[in-house]
Formats: sequence, C-alpha cells, structure tokens
Amino acid sequence: MRFVRYQKPNHPPRQGWLSGNEVGPIEGSIFTEFRRLEAEDELSQIKILPPVLPSKIICVGRNYAAHASEHGAEVPEVPLLFLKPPSAVIGHLDTILLPPQSQQVEHEAELAIVIGKRGRWILPDQAENYILGYTIANDVTARDLQNRDHQWTRAKGFDTFCPIGPWIETEFNPADALITCTVNDEIRQMASTHDMVFNTYQLIAFASSVMTLEPGDLILTGTPAGVSPLRDGDVVRITIEGIGALENPVKSEAPH
Ligand code: ZN
Repeated sequence: MRFVRYQKPNHPPRQGWLSGNEVGPIEGSIFTEFRRLEAEDELSQIKILPPVLPSKIICVGRNYAAHASEHGAEVPEVPLLFLKPPSAVIGHLDTILLPPQSQQVEHEAELAIVIGKRGRWILPDQAENYILGYTIANDVTARDLQNRDHQWTRAKGFDTFCPIGPWIETEFNPADALITCTVNDEIRQMASTHDMVFNTYQLIAFASSVMTLEPGDLILTGTPAGVSPLRDGDVVRITIEGIGALENPVKSEAPH
C-alpha cells in the first residue's frame, strides 16, 4: 500500500492512500489504527507533501563501497551515522535551494526507511516489525563545506537539503531494487540496494542501539557512486524500482 500526505487548495494537509492514480483520505493514524475512506481525487489534482514529518533523520555515510572509494575513503567497520535536521525536509516537486556559502552542492540518491514503531535495542531479525515502509530521499550535500568542516552538520543541514517522497510504499522489498538518479534526464547514479555494505535491518539495529527510534523517523541508507554537482535550473530525479520517482527543481538561493 502507498501512504501519501497531500493538500488541496484551501484545505488543511491530509494523510491519505494512493492506488494507481486515485487518492483517498485516511482516518486515524498510519502508525496505529486507521481506516481508508473512499477515493476523492486524482493524483494530478493534489499537491503532494513530504510523506512524514520526522522527529529525526538518521543518515549513513559510505554504505556503498563504490561511493566510498570515489572519495578515497574506506568502508567503515560499523555504520557511520550522522543526522540531518527536520527543517531540511521538502517534498516531491519542491525546490532545492543552492546556498550562497557553497560552490559545490551535490545530489545523493538514497533509499529511506520509514520507522513505524518506537524502539530501542532492536535486533536485526526483529527490525522488519519496526518498519512502516520505504520512501525515496535525496541527501543533498554541500561537498566543499563537508570537506572543509571535518563534521557534516553544515554541509548536510541547509534548508531544502532533504527532499523525501513522493509517498511511502509499505510492500517494498529492499533486498535488490534499482536506484537511479538523473539530472536533466542524464543518468548520474545507478546501482542496486543489493550493494549496500550494511542492510536495512542491520542499520535499524545499529541506530537503535544509540537512540530511540520514533514513528515517522527516517533512516537514509547511504548513496551509491556517481554523486555530481547540481546547478541553478537543473531538475534532479531519483527513481527506485517498486516505489516511484522523487523529482525536484534546483535554484540558487537569493543572497540575504
Ligand atoms: Zn548520503
């Protein structure tokens, strides 16, 4: 099933379901008990919002060997965690802003786990029970600032640096799905989730040994090789087989 958050003109945001082109509201909570109401809209008639509002966004660095080596780095022995702030989240078709402080902002196409249930010290073989579903994320990164700063809060944390969506797919199998990233229809990244160093269950176990995972939290599972710069006027599109496609235009942020 697909969960979507959306808005119609002059209406508050709603939680809903998506089937084919049809969208209907959901009553209750997608994390506990809910009921699907009848379809009311077509996909083209609604504005899609970020599918969740996470309390935290846990990211994993260097989780594909080929991406680690393109930066001259080793694959870590345990997952390398960092955080993005919830204020960085934008949705499908929202604009990624290139901040004036960076001259090298890059896309990172990633599979994102959506946590469905609170948990700490989750075992890998129990991890599946804590997953609501999966979505697509772009871990937008100011690469020049990342290299300069030694830690990554600034490089990863600008507003608009975490596009997610367009929806949550609950029936996705993360074992071997193709991730593709295009910029202006030119392919930049293409890999299978099969090439992850640590799989989604190992990442949930590891992250939850550090911090309590809450419903709606996201774990971004790392990016494959092929990251490349984004420029004003670009359109970046990340497709994950079995989920859909997350597309965002890119603009330079006006100086303040
Ligand atoms: Zn990343």
